[in-house]
Amino acid sequence: MIDRYSRQTLFDGIGEEGQRRLGNSCVLIIGCGALGTVIATSLVRAGVGKVRIIDRDFIEYHNLQRQVIFDEDDIRNGLPKAIAAERHLKKVNSSVEIEGIVADVNYTNIEGFVRDADIILDGLDNFETRFLINDVSLKHKIPWIYGGAISSLGMTMTIIPGVTSCFRCIFPAIPPSRTILTCDTAGVISPAPFVIGSLQSTEAMKILVGAEEINRDLIIIDVWKGNFHRLKIGPRENCPVCQGKYEFLDGKSGMRTTSLCGQNAVQVVNPGVEELSLEQLAARLKPVGEVAHNEFMLRLNIDGQEMVVFPDGRAIVKNTCDESLARGLYAKYIGA
Ligand SMILES: [Zn+2]
Repeated sequence: MIDRYSRQTLFDGIGEEGQRRLGNSCVLIIGCGALGTVIATSLVRAGVGKVRIIDRDFIEYHNLQRQVIFDEDDIRNGLPKAIAAERHLKKVNSSVEIEGIVADVNYTNIEGFVRDADIILDGLDNFETRFLINDVSLKHKIPWIYGGAISSLGMTMTIIPGVTSCFRCIFPAIPPSRTILTCDTAGVISPAPFVIGSLQSTEAMKILVGAEEINRDLIIIDVWKGNFHRLKIGPRENCPVCQGKYEFLDGKSGMRTTSLCGQNAVQVVNPGVEELSLEQLAARLKPVGEVAHNEFMLRLNIDGQEMVVFPDGRAIVKNTCDESLARGLYAKYIGA
């Protein structure tokens, strides 16, 4: 084992003691897309003791452009991302306990997933689940590392309860869905998540070995333009989470799904959405699927799924009773 980690223990910031601490730690990665695969491969290779990876999706061909640990066999075998990640990473480092879980993380199950985690890493594609992570992080005093990447842009910040500002100090509410871009509507080039995922992994290592030089700023990069910015983030007065109000974890805020199983459909209601311009949404979705709309509803056909969206932000996903699938489609194409 000493040989395996020799190049890392030679590095002053880690050393033999740091390596021991990594080996005794448990890391939770929520979301195993581009960011999650970069983070998981770094931390498994670095020799953290235990890695739990949670993701609700299957692998598709358009993932392979940036999701580094998956391959074409995983798609032929119809593997969910969490399972494929576990299988690949066990071959990379058999001394790490790796647990892949196929699940939709929500307020009813997240406290179970974080129970023994020393740190939470964000590999997500939506604001709502990040607000939920922020709540659980502050409630249980577990640090988490925010990361997001889209187009050629990326952002990351380290949130340590009681030490730094929290995620809702920066983003008080879920941005209006007309302003949310997602990788599935705006695209993304792989270096953006590679850089952000690498910064997140580095922050995780620093926290796990007890380093003092934690990043307290919001880092914003544009890999295409070659820009790198840091923004100082102060605590926000009236931040509900900093005052101990966990609205997302309590299930009082956030997306709701109802299975309309008689009709083989799932309804998604998103109280965070005020009013949706179906015209703008149609323009955003045109490049990715088959869209038709009038003033009352928008119909989207994509990846073999049909979704109907209404101006109040409500959506009905047809031909499924799977609420997690419906939430996923909503987060990808409408924004949450
Ligand atoms: Zn706060």
